[in-house]
Amino acid sequence: MKRADKSARRKTPSRRAAILPDDACPTCGTMMREARATLHTPVDGEDVAVPDVPHFKCPKCREQVLTYTQARRFEEDAIALYRKKYGLLSGDQIRAIRERNNLTQVELARLLRLGPNTISRWESGRNVQTAALDVLLRLIRDLPGSLDYLRDHAA
Ligand SMILES: [Zn+2]
Repeated sequence: MKRADKSARRKTPSRRAAILPDDACPTCGTMMREARATLHTPVDGEDVAVPDVPHFKCPKCREQVLTYTQARRFEEDAIALYRKKYGLLSGDQIRAIRERNNLTQVELARLLRLGPNTISRWESGRNVQTAALDVLLRLIRDLPGSLDYLRDHAA
């Protein structure tokens, strides 16, 4: 019996993280607790403080861990706060400008000479537009003929 256990163990690579429960601390293995706190993350090179972020915290070594969903929400909240601080268009406002002009995300990206996924990331709040591109989006929204101009000069 013992021998069988030993050989079985030998066949399995010893990866400690793989046998820990989902809510165990990845650093020390202690069970983590749900917590909320102000966490910081950089947006466009600037530190943004997001209040009341749900996460898991290790009571022993103080390690803070976010689930995939928590991390994604945290990043989106940070970008929303950054946009608010600098008066940039929100993802919904960008989508509204695009839809009012009957453009797909890829078509608008091409007119602004951006990568094909850029508009999608702006609209979903996974990335933030620069101030210069924010101005361009406002021109498309407010200045008749600007879209035709961009089409004439499309790459
Ligand atoms: Zn720990």
